Amino acid sequence: PDLTEVKVPGTDELAAVARSMEKMRREWIRGEEARNRLVADVAHELRMPLAILRGQLESLLEGKEQLAPDRLLPLIDETIRLSRLVQDLQQIGLAEDGRLRLERSWVPFGALIDEVVDVLRVEAEAKGMALEVEGSACCEIYCDPGRIRQALINLIGNAIRHTEAGNWVKVRLMAFEGEVRVDIVDRGPGIPPEKLPYLFQRFFRVDDSRNRRSGGTGLGLAIAKGFVEAHGGTIAVDSVPGEGSTFTVTLPRFPVS
Ligand code: ADP
Repeated sequence: PDLTEVKVPGTDELAAVARSMEKMRREWIRGEEARNRLVADVAHELRMPLAILRGQLESLLEGKEQLAPDRLLPLIDETIRLSRLVQDLQQIGLAEDGRLRLERSWVPFGALIDEVVDVLRVEAEAKGMALEVEGSACCEIYCDPGRIRQALINLIGNAIRHTEAGNWVKVRLMAFEGEVRVDIVDRGPGIPPEKLPYLFQRFFRVDDSRNRRSGGTGLGLAIAKGFVEAHGGTIAVDSVPGEGSTFTVTLPRFPVS
Protein backbone atom coordinates (compact mmCIF):
# COMPACT_ATOMS: atom_id res chain seq x y z
CA PRO A 1 0.00 0.00 0.00
CA ASP A 2 1.01 3.54 -0.70
CA LEU A 3 1.61 4.92 2.79
CA THR A 4 1.72 8.48 1.51
CA GLU A 5 -2.08 8.12 1.03
CA VAL A 6 -2.64 7.34 4.74
CA LYS A 7 -3.70 10.43 6.57
CA VAL A 8 -2.14 10.70 10.00
CA PRO A 9 -4.54 12.45 12.42
CA GLY A 10 -3.23 15.71 13.79
CA THR A 11 -3.19 16.56 17.51
CA ASP A 12 -6.43 18.55 17.16
CA GLU A 13 -8.25 15.56 15.66
CA LEU A 14 -6.84 13.22 18.30
CA ALA A 15 -7.93 15.63 21.02
CA ALA A 16 -11.47 15.76 19.50
CA VAL A 17 -11.65 11.93 19.49
CA ALA A 18 -10.46 11.83 23.11
CA ARG A 19 -13.09 14.43 24.07
CA SER A 20 -15.94 12.54 22.41
CA MET A 21 -14.81 9.27 24.05
CA GLU A 22 -14.74 10.99 27.43
CA LYS A 23 -18.26 12.35 26.77
CA MET A 24 -19.54 8.85 25.89
CA ARG A 25 -17.91 7.44 29.03
CA ARG A 26 -19.61 10.07 31.22
CA GLU A 27 -23.01 9.46 29.56
CA TRP A 28 -22.62 5.74 30.10
CA ILE A 29 -21.79 6.26 33.80
CA ARG A 30 -24.78 8.59 34.17
CA GLY A 31 -27.08 5.99 32.54
CA GLU A 32 -25.67 3.30 34.80
CA GLU A 33 -26.28 5.46 37.89
CA ALA A 34 -29.86 6.15 36.80
CA ARG A 35 -30.50 2.42 36.28
CA ASN A 36 -29.05 1.57 39.70
CA ARG A 37 -31.17 4.27 41.34
CA LEU A 38 -34.30 2.95 39.63
CA VAL A 39 -33.64 -0.62 40.82
CA ALA A 40 -33.04 0.64 44.39
CA ASP A 41 -36.24 2.76 44.28
CA VAL A 42 -38.37 -0.12 42.99
CA ALA A 43 -36.96 -2.46 45.65
CA HIS A 44 -37.72 0.16 48.31
CA GLU A 45 -41.31 0.64 47.07
CA LEU A 46 -42.04 -3.08 46.93
CA ARG A 47 -40.44 -4.12 50.22
CA MET A 48 -43.07 -2.71 52.59
CA PRO A 49 -46.30 -3.84 50.85
CA LEU A 50 -44.83 -7.29 50.24
CA ALA A 51 -43.80 -7.61 53.91
CA ILE A 52 -47.34 -6.63 54.99
CA LEU A 53 -48.93 -9.10 52.56
CA ARG A 54 -46.65 -11.88 53.67
CA GLY A 55 -47.22 -11.20 57.39
CA GLN A 56 -50.99 -11.15 57.00
CA LEU A 57 -51.09 -14.26 54.81
CA GLU A 58 -48.91 -16.12 57.32
CA SER A 59 -51.14 -15.22 60.23
CA LEU A 60 -54.19 -16.34 58.21
CA LEU A 61 -52.43 -19.63 57.55
CA GLU A 62 -51.60 -20.08 61.23
CA GLY A 63 -55.26 -19.56 62.02
CA LYS A 64 -54.65 -16.41 64.09
CA GLU A 65 -57.05 -14.53 61.87
CA GLN A 66 -60.47 -15.54 60.62
CA LEU A 67 -60.66 -16.19 56.88
CA ALA A 68 -63.35 -13.51 56.59
CA PRO A 69 -63.88 -11.25 53.56
CA ASP A 70 -63.05 -8.12 55.57
CA ARG A 71 -59.61 -9.59 56.38
CA LEU A 72 -59.02 -10.62 52.76
CA LEU A 73 -60.26 -7.52 50.91
CA PRO A 74 -57.41 -5.23 52.07
CA LEU A 75 -54.93 -7.88 50.90
CA ILE A 76 -56.56 -7.97 47.47
CA ASP A 77 -56.49 -4.13 47.38
CA GLU A 78 -52.79 -4.22 48.13
CA THR A 79 -52.09 -6.68 45.30
CA ILE A 80 -54.14 -4.48 42.92
CA ARG A 81 -52.05 -1.46 43.98
CA LEU A 82 -48.86 -3.44 43.39
CA SER A 83 -49.90 -4.53 39.90
CA ARG A 84 -50.86 -0.93 39.06
CA LEU A 85 -47.44 0.18 40.20
CA VAL A 86 -45.72 -2.38 37.96
CA GLN A 87 -47.93 -1.42 34.99
CA ASP A 88 -47.25 2.29 35.54
CA LEU A 89 -43.50 1.68 35.69
CA GLN A 90 -43.68 -0.24 32.45
CA GLN A 91 -45.57 2.60 30.73
CA ILE A 92 -43.08 5.23 31.97
CA GLY A 93 -40.18 3.07 30.73
CA LEU A 94 -41.77 2.74 27.27
CA ALA A 95 -42.52 6.47 27.11
CA GLU A 96 -38.94 7.39 28.10
CA ASP A 97 -37.50 5.09 25.42
CA GLY A 98 -39.87 6.53 22.80
CA ARG A 99 -41.50 3.10 22.43
CA LEU A 100 -44.98 3.92 23.74
CA ARG A 101 -47.51 2.85 21.11
CA LEU A 102 -50.03 5.67 20.80
CA GLU A 103 -53.46 4.98 19.34
CA ARG A 104 -54.13 8.38 17.85
CA SER A 105 -57.26 9.74 16.30
CA TRP A 106 -58.96 13.13 15.91
CA VAL A 107 -60.51 13.90 19.31
CA PRO A 108 -62.77 16.84 20.27
CA PHE A 109 -60.62 18.38 23.00
CA GLY A 110 -63.38 20.20 24.91
CA ALA A 111 -65.40 16.97 25.18
CA LEU A 112 -62.34 15.09 26.45
CA ILE A 113 -61.83 17.69 29.19
CA ASP A 114 -65.54 17.55 30.15
CA GLU A 115 -65.28 13.78 30.45
CA VAL A 116 -62.24 14.01 32.77
CA VAL A 117 -63.82 16.74 34.89
CA ASP A 118 -67.06 14.72 35.22
CA VAL A 119 -65.09 11.73 36.52
CA LEU A 120 -63.34 13.87 39.15
CA ARG A 121 -66.24 16.12 40.11
CA VAL A 122 -67.58 13.45 42.49
CA GLU A 123 -64.27 13.44 44.40
CA ALA A 124 -64.19 17.26 44.49
CA GLU A 125 -67.80 17.58 45.62
CA ALA A 126 -67.23 15.02 48.37
CA LYS A 127 -64.65 17.52 49.74
CA GLY A 128 -67.04 20.45 49.31
CA MET A 129 -64.76 21.80 46.60
CA ALA A 130 -65.68 23.57 43.37
CA LEU A 131 -64.07 22.16 40.24
CA GLU A 132 -64.44 24.88 37.62
CA VAL A 133 -63.71 24.84 33.91
CA GLU A 134 -62.80 28.19 32.32
CA GLY A 135 -62.41 28.94 28.62
CA SER A 136 -63.05 26.57 25.79
CA ALA A 137 -61.16 24.52 23.27
CA CYS A 138 -63.77 23.51 20.75
CA CYS A 139 -61.25 22.11 18.33
CA GLU A 140 -60.08 18.62 17.58
CA ILE A 141 -56.60 17.43 18.42
CA TYR A 142 -54.76 14.43 17.03
CA CYS A 143 -53.95 12.34 20.11
CA ASP A 144 -54.33 9.06 21.96
CA PRO A 145 -57.42 9.95 24.05
CA GLY A 146 -56.78 7.21 26.65
CA ARG A 147 -53.25 8.46 27.39
CA ILE A 148 -54.23 12.16 27.48
CA ARG A 149 -57.23 11.37 29.69
CA GLN A 150 -54.91 9.53 32.11
CA ALA A 151 -52.39 12.41 32.20
CA LEU A 152 -55.13 14.95 32.97
CA ILE A 153 -56.80 12.72 35.57
CA ASN A 154 -53.43 12.46 37.37
CA LEU A 155 -52.91 16.24 37.35
CA ILE A 156 -56.45 17.31 38.25
CA GLY A 157 -56.72 14.45 40.79
CA ASN A 158 -53.53 15.71 42.50
CA ALA A 159 -54.90 19.26 42.58
CA ILE A 160 -58.09 18.03 44.29
CA ARG A 161 -56.24 15.75 46.72
CA HIS A 162 -53.73 18.40 47.82
CA THR A 163 -56.26 21.22 48.23
CA GLU A 164 -58.08 21.75 51.51
CA ALA A 165 -61.83 21.16 51.62
CA GLY A 166 -63.88 24.23 50.76
CA ASN A 167 -61.34 25.66 48.30
CA TRP A 168 -61.46 25.55 44.51
CA VAL A 169 -59.57 23.95 41.63
CA LYS A 170 -59.71 25.53 38.17
CA VAL A 171 -59.12 23.95 34.78
CA ARG A 172 -58.36 26.69 32.24
CA LEU A 173 -58.48 25.88 28.53
CA MET A 174 -56.93 27.75 25.65
CA ALA A 175 -56.69 26.89 21.96
CA PHE A 176 -54.07 28.39 19.65
CA GLU A 177 -53.33 27.89 16.00
CA GLY A 178 -51.05 24.89 16.43
CA GLU A 179 -51.62 23.79 20.01
CA VAL A 180 -53.99 23.58 22.95
CA ARG A 181 -53.08 24.52 26.50
CA VAL A 182 -54.58 23.41 29.82
CA ASP A 183 -53.74 25.11 33.13
CA ILE A 184 -54.69 23.24 36.28
CA VAL A 185 -54.74 25.81 39.06
CA ASP A 186 -55.14 24.92 42.72
CA ARG A 187 -55.12 26.72 46.05
CA GLY A 188 -53.30 23.87 47.78
CA PRO A 189 -50.13 24.05 49.92
CA GLY A 190 -47.84 24.72 46.95
CA ILE A 191 -44.45 23.10 46.39
CA PRO A 192 -41.15 24.44 47.80
CA PRO A 193 -38.95 25.81 44.97
CA GLU A 194 -36.04 23.48 45.86
CA LYS A 195 -38.30 20.45 45.24
CA LEU A 196 -39.61 21.58 41.84
CA PRO A 197 -36.69 20.17 39.77
CA TYR A 198 -37.43 16.64 41.04
CA LEU A 199 -41.22 16.74 40.92
CA PHE A 200 -41.67 14.71 37.72
CA GLN A 201 -39.17 12.01 38.72
CA ARG A 202 -40.40 8.51 39.48
CA PHE A 203 -41.28 7.98 43.17
CA PHE A 204 -40.58 11.57 44.16
CA ARG A 205 -42.87 12.87 46.90
CA VAL A 206 -42.66 16.31 48.46
CA ASP A 207 -43.65 14.99 51.88
CA ASP A 208 -42.65 11.37 51.76
CA SER A 209 -44.44 10.05 54.85
CA ARG A 210 -47.72 11.92 54.29
CA ASN A 211 -48.09 10.99 50.62
CA ARG A 212 -47.02 7.41 51.14
CA ARG A 213 -49.71 6.99 53.81
CA SER A 214 -52.35 8.48 51.50
CA GLY A 215 -51.67 5.58 49.12
CA GLY A 216 -50.04 7.51 46.25
CA THR A 217 -47.52 5.56 44.20
CA GLY A 218 -45.35 8.60 43.47
CA LEU A 219 -45.69 7.82 39.75
CA GLY A 220 -48.64 10.03 38.76
CA LEU A 221 -46.59 13.01 37.55
CA ALA A 222 -43.95 10.84 35.85
CA ILE A 223 -46.77 9.11 33.92
CA ALA A 224 -48.38 12.45 32.98
CA LYS A 225 -45.03 13.79 31.73
CA GLY A 226 -44.25 10.59 29.80
CA PHE A 227 -47.65 10.55 28.06
CA VAL A 228 -47.69 14.28 27.23
CA GLU A 229 -44.12 14.30 25.91
CA ALA A 230 -44.79 11.17 23.82
CA HIS A 231 -47.33 13.38 21.97
CA GLY A 232 -44.70 16.10 21.38
CA GLY A 233 -46.30 18.22 24.12
CA THR A 234 -44.88 19.87 27.25
CA ILE A 235 -45.72 19.87 30.94
CA ALA A 236 -44.57 22.49 33.44
CA VAL A 237 -45.29 23.65 36.96
CA ASP A 238 -45.33 26.98 38.70
CA SER A 239 -45.90 26.99 42.43
CA VAL A 240 -45.80 29.33 45.41
CA PRO A 241 -45.71 27.72 48.87
CA GLY A 242 -48.76 28.75 50.86
CA GLU A 243 -50.58 29.97 47.74
CA GLY A 244 -50.99 27.04 45.37
CA SER A 245 -49.73 25.43 42.18
CA THR A 246 -50.40 25.68 38.47
CA PHE A 247 -49.57 22.74 36.20
CA THR A 248 -49.55 23.63 32.50
CA VAL A 249 -49.90 21.12 29.68
CA THR A 250 -49.52 22.00 26.01
CA LEU A 251 -50.33 19.58 23.21
CA PRO A 252 -49.86 19.95 19.47
CA ARG A 253 -53.16 19.92 17.61
CA PHE A 254 -51.87 18.32 14.43
CA PRO A 255 -49.83 15.20 13.69
CA VAL A 256 -46.14 15.80 14.45
CA SER A 257 -43.58 13.99 12.35
P1 ADP B 1 -48.39 10.70 44.29
O1 ADP B 1 -48.84 9.33 43.94
O2 ADP B 1 -47.55 10.74 45.54
O3 ADP B 1 -49.47 11.73 44.24
P2 ADP B 1 -47.34 12.14 42.00
O4 ADP B 1 -46.22 11.79 41.06
O5 ADP B 1 -48.68 12.35 41.41
O6 ADP B 1 -47.34 11.03 43.11
O7 ADP B 1 -46.91 13.45 42.76
C1 ADP B 1 -45.61 13.54 43.34
C2 ADP B 1 -45.63 14.47 44.54
O8 ADP B 1 -45.80 15.82 44.10
C3 ADP B 1 -46.79 14.22 45.50
O9 ADP B 1 -46.44 13.22 46.42
C4 ADP B 1 -46.97 15.57 46.15
O10 ADP B 1 -46.04 15.69 47.21
C5 ADP B 1 -46.56 16.55 45.06
N1 ADP B 1 -47.71 17.16 44.33
C6 ADP B 1 -48.26 16.75 43.16
N2 ADP B 1 -49.27 17.55 42.79
C7 ADP B 1 -49.37 18.51 43.74
C8 ADP B 1 -50.23 19.65 43.93
N3 ADP B 1 -51.20 19.97 43.04
N4 ADP B 1 -50.04 20.41 45.04
C9 ADP B 1 -49.07 20.11 45.94
N5 ADP B 1 -48.22 19.05 45.82
C10 ADP B 1 -48.36 18.26 44.74
